[in-house]
Amino acid sequence: MQKWKCTVCGFIFDGDAAPEKCPNCGAPKEKFEKLSDEKAQLIERSRLSNALHVKLITLLTEVSEIADKGVKDNLDPRCREIFAQAKEMADLIAQRSRTEIQSHIGKGKWG
Ligand SMILES: [Zn+2]
Repeated sequence: MQKWKCTVCGFIFDGDAAPEKCPNCGAPKEKFEKLSDEKAQLIERSRLSNALHVKLITLLTEVSEIADKGVKDNLDPRCREIFAQAKEMADLIAQRSRTEIQSHIGKGKWG
């Protein structure tokens, strides 16, 4: 599908033609530029990957909270160690995913 970018706010519109006005900032149709097929494909691909990162971050945040409860519960040293490791790894991977999304935005892998 063709994509149009609002040159005022960056909103990406999917459609055969630019919208009458930007759904985000209200700029008129003339402010939209058609993206090249290459750029449109990159955005399409990136939407999936970015959505997966967001889902991962959401689940890892839940893992971190569960693990934190286990650390505080502290039934015995082995349990505490497992929960502490789970929290550490969940936090690390979530932060890597955030960093990756941030770099995607900088490279136009977003929209
Ligand atoms: Zn706009």
